[in-house]
Amino acid sequence: MRDRILFTDLDGTLLSHHDYRPGPARAAVERLQASGVAVIPVTSKTGAELGPIVAELGLRDGWVAENGAEIRWPGPAAPTVHGTPYDQVRAGLAAAAAAAEVTVRGFGDMSDAEVAALTGLTLSAARAARTRAYSESFVVLHGSVTALQGELRRRGLRAVRGGRFLTATGLHDKGTAVRAILARLLPATSWAVGDAPNDAPMLAAVAHPYQVRRPDGTWAQLDVAGVIRVDGVGPAGFVEVAERLLSQVMAG
Ligand SMILES: [Mg+2]
Repeated sequence: MRDRILFTDLDGTLLSHHDYRPGPARAAVERLQASGVAVIPVTSKTGAELGPIVAELGLRDGWVAENGAEIRWPGPAAPTVHGTPYDQVRAGLAAAAAAAEVTVRGFGDMSDAEVAALTGLTLSAARAARTRAYSESFVVLHGSVTALQGELRRRGLRAVRGGRFLTATGLHDKGTAVRAILARLLPATSWAVGDAPNDAPMLAAVAHPYQVRRPDGTWAQLDVAGVIRVDGVGPAGFVEVAERLLSQVMAG
């Protein structure tokens, strides 16, 4: 295993919030990997979505899907699952919404075409986004998110906010998975980069946490000690973080 790991969020960080493309981040990923840095995506995306992205970017050191629910290790090791099965998450979300008098609409209630229209994903990418194993992404149409959070907690669930949606999950987060990877792979140092509140637990778990700007030019308010804000939006910010990491590698 590599001495250095960079954990990265995908949507709004390594990939553009608007077109889901890596842009300049693609070359940065290549340089990182050529310099012996493991780049591990840690995302709310599903395993079905990650397959083609990992292949396209040439990532080879594993991945984390659905906000920490599932870890795929490099090599033949069996996946590690922290997630709650999708049907259980859906049922718990429905019960919590009814108790909190909140109206929600989840990916399981939507067609591929509806998800594509909401996200700008292609139809096939929307289908992969709806192929969920451990979490449900949803919008709140009416009612209080705070009340919903309380009712979810009573049912052993929580909702985290990503770039576009809330996502209901079991009591794991991106940090759960990052800590498990660090404990098993024991890198000399760890970096992470993200853009949204669901990245905070991942950032808090590493030695060098970084935050990129959102498309509106602001940084999300994250309660993470020592987090460094870079100027670039999304992939441009990822490139800045990669350059800092590469200069550390060069310095030995
Ligand atoms: Mg993001």
